[in-house]
Amino acid sequence: MKSLSSIVTTDLASLTGAGAGSGPDVLIVGSGTAGVTSAIEFARNGLSVVILEAGPFVLPMHVGSSPFRSRGDLTPQIHDLVRHRTSWVERAPFETSGEAPLNNDSWSVVGGRTLFWGGCTPRFTEWDFDDWPLTLQDFAPYYDRAEDLMHVSGPRAKRPPFFRGEGQQEFLDRLIAAGIDAEHASLAVDTQAVQNGYMSRSFDCSASRLIRSGLLTRAVTPGGIALVENTVAERVEHADGQVTGLIARGVDASETVRLTARHYTFACGAIQSTRLALASGLKDLHPDVGTHVADHQFVQGLLKLHEPLKEPIYAFIPPTRERPYHIQIQGPFTETWYTPYHATVWLDCDVKGTYLLAYCFGVGEPSASNEVRITDGPGTAPGGMGGYTVIADRTDHDHRILEEMTGFLPEVAKAVGADLVRSKVNPLGAALHEIGGLRMSAQEGDGVTDTHGRFWQLGNLSVADSAAWPSQGSANSYLTITAWSLRHAEGVLARLA
Ligand SMILES: Cc1cc2nc3c(=O)[nH]c(=O)nc-3n(C[C@H](O)[C@H](O)[C@H](O)COP(=O)(O)OP(=O)(O)OC[C@H]3O[C@@H](n4cnc5c(N)ncnc54)[C@H](O)[C@@H]3O)c2cc1C
Repeated sequence: MKSLSSIVTTDLASLTGAGAGSGPDVLIVGSGTAGVTSAIEFARNGLSVVILEAGPFVLPMHVGSSPFRSRGDLTPQIHDLVRHRTSWVERAPFETSGEAPLNNDSWSVVGGRTLFWGGCTPRFTEWDFDDWPLTLQDFAPYYDRAEDLMHVSGPRAKRPPFFRGEGQQEFLDRLIAAGIDAEHASLAVDTQAVQNGYMSRSFDCSASRLIRSGLLTRAVTPGGIALVENTVAERVEHADGQVTGLIARGVDASETVRLTARHYTFACGAIQSTRLALASGLKDLHPDVGTHVADHQFVQGLLKLHEPLKEPIYAFIPPTRERPYHIQIQGPFTETWYTPYHATVWLDCDVKGTYLLAYCFGVGEPSASNEVRITDGPGTAPGGMGGYTVIADRTDHDHRILEEMTGFLPEVAKAVGADLVRSKVNPLGAALHEIGGLRMSAQEGDGVTDTHGRFWQLGNLSVADSAAWPSQGSANSYLTITAWSLRHAEGVLARLA
């Protein structure tokens, strides 16, 4: 008896054994939104694509779109099948003790974090691009396309907001009346009405997008995507300004294999793409490899309403140039607290409850000294992917933003007729919105990659995820990663042409 994954995935051996033929046009590492969005673009343009994914095929969709959504006991167990522990430490204790406690989480699975994410999809603002060699105007066409393919609903998208009852509007009006700009949250949950054969797609997830694309193949084929699960890319080899091969290993295999392609793409999530570049010795090519890493400054709060709300709400307080953070408010609940095991808790609210959850995400400063460092410890990730730590300190700017967010929450509570009953500053890395490590630049020599994520010094290597970003807005990263990977694919296609 074969498993479901056998009809979706391809064996690593079939790519390397006798009769395997020459390699694909593009070899992509990672099957999250960065990898799958790029793969679909490449295949639709006639290229043969192989995706290597360290994790197994577990679900064809977001867990919140599946029956597991209603099973608070089973969903954490699905996480535990594919979650591993990682390490984010401050420099001083790390330099003194050399210890890198496993204090953070990462996920390795076909679809990556798109199986579990919370669905909030704001865009960057105009000023969020101040440190980028691109403007919002340059980026807007990719945002439009990403919102379309992710079926985003919300204030500016084609699809109506998810919560649009009177209660939601009244809640927004309370904030606006208090002088706090507020809008419906942008969510990658399809709200288009069921009609004429159209059924909504629910949460965006790269595993479902890949399956729906109709491009999955079992062999290396022009215009097709072969997906190889449970396979870790260990490093790339290079000579004379070109990557010459990628060394990979099945998670249970003792031998490595060498794969070749015309082009190679890292789409492992910012930290893992950076780790792979470091493991490949690419720091010898540019000193910025591994540096300028950041994550959002993340404060969460619990608000208690004086009177219950009539309906569920999900409100978004956008950032301003002076206030570089945003707040997501959702509820009501009888009482709860954010956990990555249930990022879509806002679907399970209870109108009899009087508690609201508030998440504040502030722009983190990507200091040169915030770095990914390869360490000896194996970690708990598959096949050696865990042997790293992120060494990152908060700057004065980061501390100021944390203070401002913490100070603003009681004002927000007062505006909506509630009290702030609890708040917490989360450690760096906990927001899971990491960026940097392979930062882009407009000029060769100033950065690691160019404005399409192509490595300046290796003509056939690129990065499709947020490792290339020079900075982050307060916006949660998924939508911008998807838009960026569309732009990345366009740049790689131009180079391959
Ligand atoms: C619980 C939770 C809630 C979230 N909520 C939101 C939200 O509301 N809004 C938002 O915008 N973002 C949210 N995020 C963050 C968002 O999910 C991520 O920013 C985004 O999905 C990252 O996409 P990616 O493709 O860059 O990386 P990933 O999704 O991490 O995919 C990378 C894949 O690459 C694989 N890989 C890595 N290294 C290797 C290697 N060497 N060999 C083979 N494979 C490798 C990994 O196994 C992984 O599957 C949330 C994340 C989590 C976990």
